[in-house]
Amino acid sequence: MSKVLILGAGFGGVRCALDLEKNSKDLEIIIVDKNNYHTFQPALYEVASAFYIGDNFREQRFNFQKIKRSAAVPFGEIFQNRNIKFMQAEVKSVDVNAKSVSFTSGEVMNFDYLVLALGSETNYFGIPHLAEKSYPLKSVEDALNIKSAIDELFYNAKPDELIKIVIGGGGVAGSELAAELAGDIKKLAKKHKHLKNKAILTIIEASPNVLGRAAPWIINIAQKRLDDLGIKVLISKKIIDVIDHEVLFEGGEKVPFDVLIWTAGIKANSILTQIAGLEMDKTCKAVVDMSLQAHPHSNVFAIGDNTWCFDPESQMAAPAMVQTAINQGALAAKNILNLIAGRPLEKYKHKGVRFIIPLGKKFGIADLGKVHLVGFMAWCLKQLTFLQYFATILPKFKAIRFWCKEQNVFRKND
Ligand SMILES: Cc1cc2nc3c(=O)[nH]c(=O)nc-3n(C[C@H](O)[C@H](O)[C@H](O)COP(=O)(O)OP(=O)(O)OC[C@H]3O[C@@H](n4cnc5c(N)ncnc54)[C@H](O)[C@@H]3O)c2cc1C
Repeated sequence: MSKVLILGAGFGGVRCALDLEKNSKDLEIIIVDKNNYHTFQPALYEVASAFYIGDNFREQRFNFQKIKRSAAVPFGEIFQNRNIKFMQAEVKSVDVNAKSVSFTSGEVMNFDYLVLALGSETNYFGIPHLAEKSYPLKSVEDALNIKSAIDELFYNAKPDELIKIVIGGGGVAGSELAAELAGDIKKLAKKHKHLKNKAILTIIEASPNVLGRAAPWIINIAQKRLDDLGIKVLISKKIIDVIDHEVLFEGGEKVPFDVLIWTAGIKANSILTQIAGLEMDKTCKAVVDMSLQAHPHSNVFAIGDNTWCFDPESQMAAPAMVQTAINQGALAAKNILNLIAGRPLEKYKHKGVRFIIPLGKKFGIADLGKVHLVGFMAWCLKQLTFLQYFATILPKFKAIRFWCKEQNVFRKND
């Protein structure tokens, strides 16, 4: 019986494990993750900005748990009654030549086929003091830390004291978080009787516009939306250092902050840099060919955010998105079975990705190719996308249950 070891149970890893189990009874499938729950990353901005009411400690703790569970799907729910072994462990190193993986617990596991699905990490681009002084947004804990830091600011500030929240990065994650936080801040100010206009939310973006390479019509609407929500957007500002409670730009200008959130970049999981004999791109992602085999090892596959998959036909690299991870997870499963059966491997085809961004108060912008939506309908579509994502990792009924739970918690956000 061949043993397939999948490292990382994000969207890509889970899809790969489920498809392998569905299509073969003769495999030992082991999937490993450092957490005992799947992190539903697209909902993290809502966790970080969730407003929960609770006047006593017990109520607040209950609400805190509810918020956490809305973006954390226990692996028990995903792999229950499946012929898949889930193991909670942290990967320490991988030896592709010896076909073995070491874990921080000291355990070592061998494999016949390996799938690297370890996702990405926050990239601080070597900016001094940034990692120590800022809050990242990659995990459920990160999102809850942001939430607590902002709550504490309002709790401790005098009513007329200026509260300064700065978000580094005006990409999708930074813009959607800022827009949602704008509503949360208003409610917190009301709750703590903080003076109006005494809380400033600023986005700092190094490029000349928010949302990177989105279509110009999307950028224009998004910029206006952020302005309307009272968010200050500083563009073409490159942070070069963080000193005490100030970010420093090229040219010497400074912006003070009480809470600094960093959403401006990702790089591949650092475990990959320690794998000898694997070809990497400049951001340390595993280079794969279109069959998703990691060079030069035919029994090692890489999928999702930790992968550099460049299509020579379209001259495009697959983007770091949920749909990419899911599609690549499904193809890696297919190709492992093809390899075992001696059949030719299939090639990854990157399908055009829909662009949908929520920007606070149940407003969104959606570019579906020929159809453009702006407003409530686009926001609804984003919520339906979440349901679709849940359905790729859970059976239908459970997916609906989790989605309803998530909707119920975040319904009150505006
Ligand atoms: C805030 C935020 C919002 C986003 N919003 C969207 C969106 O709206 N739409 C969209 O398409 N994409 C979005 N993305 C991107 C999307 O979430 C990723 O592209 C997708 O999750 C990648 O899937 P993956 O399976 O490659 O990796 P991940 O989902 O990151 O999974 C990697 C897994 O590996 C585990 N792991 C990591 N290191 C170790 C280790 N050493 N040992 C064991 N386990 C380990 C992690 O716990 C994790 O479960 C967002 C990302 C963020 C951070």
